[in-house]
Amino acid sequence: MNNCPRIEIDLSKIRTNTKILTDRCKKAGIQVAGVTKGFCAVPQIAEALVEGGIAMLADSRLENFDKIAHIPLPKILLRLPMISQVEKVVSLVDISLNSELSTIKKLSEESLKQKKIHKIILMIDLGDLREGIWNNQVIETIEEIVNLDGIKLIGVGTNLTCYGGVIPTKNNLGLLADFAKEILEKFQIQLEIISGGNSSSLYLLDREEMPKSINHLRLGESIVLGRETAFGEAIPGTYQDAFRLVAEIIELKEKPSVPIGEIGMDAFGNKPVFEDRGIRKRAILAVGRQDVSVNNLIPKDEKISILGASSDHLIIDVTDSSKEYAVGDEVSFNIEYGALLQLMTSEYVYKRII
Ligand SMILES: *Cc1c(COP(=O)(O)O)cnc(C)c1O
Repeated sequence: MNNCPRIEIDLSKIRTNTKILTDRCKKAGIQVAGVTKGFCAVPQIAEALVEGGIAMLADSRLENFDKIAHIPLPKILLRLPMISQVEKVVSLVDISLNSELSTIKKLSEESLKQKKIHKIILMIDLGDLREGIWNNQVIETIEEIVNLDGIKLIGVGTNLTCYGGVIPTKNNLGLLADFAKEILEKFQIQLEIISGGNSSSLYLLDREEMPKSINHLRLGESIVLGRETAFGEAIPGTYQDAFRLVAEIIELKEKPSVPIGEIGMDAFGNKPVFEDRGIRKRAILAVGRQDVSVNNLIPKDEKISILGASSDHLIIDVTDSSKEYAVGDEVSFNIEYGALLQLMTSEYVYKRII
């Protein structure tokens, strides 16, 4: 059965991508935590990451850890824990990223209750302005953490290129390495993990500018879509099309390129503008903005252009294509990360693993 719309997931491509990245990182003394949130932690895909050589599994949502509980690798919670969820955090994951002392105290109490040691990585904000404690509070925060039972500080980490778009450099990641040194001197704690960010840090390996003591990266997009995210470059040897969207044509007609009548607002409250390109052959696909943001789709057939979309309909121009499309035909798209998140999350999109 060819259910549409569907996302096709090529496990062997994902395995190859993972292997290339873990080998590359290994040479630089870096362990890779494979990030599963982009594909909602679908177990078979997570297993492909494991076969590709990742050392840990990481996700931002607690719900996802149930799906990968059977995989015997350390689990890291990427999003700062909610105090309301500390019980699940301690029972489901081994390591969490933290920046709030009040949360860490709750984790400590809960770990004692569950007779466990919960490991934490302290997040330091190096300027991107998402999560992390500020530079001048690192030492005083650790002074408090070391007094808490049930908690073990095993690392420091940072996150860049997410909110502020700040690019990792030798200098800002160097600061993270300096903190690890200072922590060793002041507290005699030899941190196991110095986590230098996400897929945007990879380019530093190519330029040989990764600070030596960075020994851990959390990689999502680079694994699943074969792209580093500081400059958006494809990573040599990896596949960018391990995931693709397939949708079906439900109408195919020649129509004018400019609507007839007075133009008000479209279904999303925007006033559309149109260029008159004469009569064009247009196809409507049965997929829409309820499933995916269409700006993050790239038609495989380069002669197709995307005209627009409403909640359930994607309109494309097939006039210039060399293929004679018909109603019922399938059209494929490569996808960007935003589209991957949405398509994997939508319950209206079939997931087919190949
Ligand atoms: C999502 C996330 C990552 C993975 O980022 P990619 O750009 O997909 O590699 C790493 N760290 C944290 C804290 C995250 O939330």
